[in-house]
Amino acid sequence: MASDAARPAPRPKASPGAARPTSGAAALGRLGAAAVALSALGAWAFAPAAPPAVAAVPAPAALPGPAPVSSPPPAPPPERLVSRTRRVGANGTPGQVLGALGLAPEESQAVLAALAPHLPFRRVRPGDQVRLERAEADGALRSLSWRQGPAEEVIVRSCGEGLCAERRDVPLASEVLRVAVTIRSSLYEALQEAGEDPALAVAASDVLAWDVDFYQDVRAGDSLRLVVEKVHADGRFLRYGEVLAVEYDGRSVGRKRLFRYTDPDGGTAYYDDAGQSARRGFLRAPVPFVNLTSRFGGRRHPVLGYVRAHQGVDYAAPAGTPVWSVGDGLVTQAGWSGGCGMTVAVRHRSGLESVYCHLSRIDVAAGSRVAQKQVLGAVGRTGLATGPHLHFAVRRGGTFVNPMQLQVPRGAPVRADWLADFQEKVGPVRERLDRSPVAWTG
Ligand SMILES: [Zn+2]
Repeated sequence: MASDAARPAPRPKASPGAARPTSGAAALGRLGAAAVALSALGAWAFAPAAPPAVAAVPAPAALPGPAPVSSPPPAPPPERLVSRTRRVGANGTPGQVLGALGLAPEESQAVLAALAPHLPFRRVRPGDQVRLERAEADGALRSLSWRQGPAEEVIVRSCGEGLCAERRDVPLASEVLRVAVTIRSSLYEALQEAGEDPALAVAASDVLAWDVDFYQDVRAGDSLRLVVEKVHADGRFLRYGEVLAVEYDGRSVGRKRLFRYTDPDGGTAYYDDAGQSARRGFLRAPVPFVNLTSRFGGRRHPVLGYVRAHQGVDYAAPAGTPVWSVGDGLVTQAGWSGGCGMTVAVRHRSGLESVYCHLSRIDVAAGSRVAQKQVLGAVGRTGLATGPHLHFAVRRGGTFVNPMQLQVPRGAPVRADWLADFQEKVGPVRERLDRSPVAWTG
């Protein structure tokens, strides 16, 4: 049937002047024309599994001789469909998307009425993907799928006189797996070589944000191990779930191990083997780890390190990368400051002040309180900067200190009366993390 599917069915010429019985049919005629135009532009069409509703092949006239038995009449070709896809825009409404897909107002209303019980419109989100399928021959609506992600989809189909909708639940499958990589050139490449999505580097860096600066601390030979949930939908990788345990063993930072623990009160946080908190007053880096492909070594190193002459650390993060406050505090400066360009300074309870220079944008006002990881602005090249980068500095009193050598105290450990619970819950995950990979010799 492949050859049948590939052969286009005859297309009716949809001429705007042709007489039509009703306005609805007129709308469908226009859509048919649009569908044909799309098809000509290379929109893909395919053969559905269901056979088309086509009149039976005309019965042969009474034949004088014996009826031919060896060549049955060929099955009619399957119906060809033309599909169109649109996404819900930033401030888009369901009606706008259906309009953009070419639905006539009355068709649109019928689709919305069928969708409503399965997809309340307040749940429509920007980025939702809406796919329309029409018969290529007459432009009749065959199906409309409203997809909110790989796992959530509502499908509208014609049934009887009107339209019916149903939610198609894609079952999610979650597995817990252990990932272990040794870094040779970059964390990104190490994860790719291990067959994992490099997004895992971002998840790991988020958990390790108080201990490891993935811009500065990564060295050849360092290793990363994780016990992480991996979620699949329809047998395809959907996303990583929670990081249950992570260990970074690095030449520069030493061995850092963290475990995810939910306490009897329902609070969830990361702790080390002994139940000490992962949290600290300061993050290790003032920018999230996004510059995945940058390698260390040589002149391509993304960070110059602490430079005594200009009393700070330069992060060569791409322009527009969010810059976040390394700790809770009060904004003491938000605006232009000479060679530093657009600058934000934050005073922290510890008496330290963090300073962020060359920003392209500032998102906070002087005098406002900010939380750790709150976005202050974005990386830019304002002031005396030859290219986009973040100049990050820390001062105490009037004196600059090296931010890479700060000793910052940790948050509260696991409560003493919960330690037994902590060890019991973390035990199996720790075993998994420490299990050496099976060596196959066969
Ligand atoms: Zn600098």
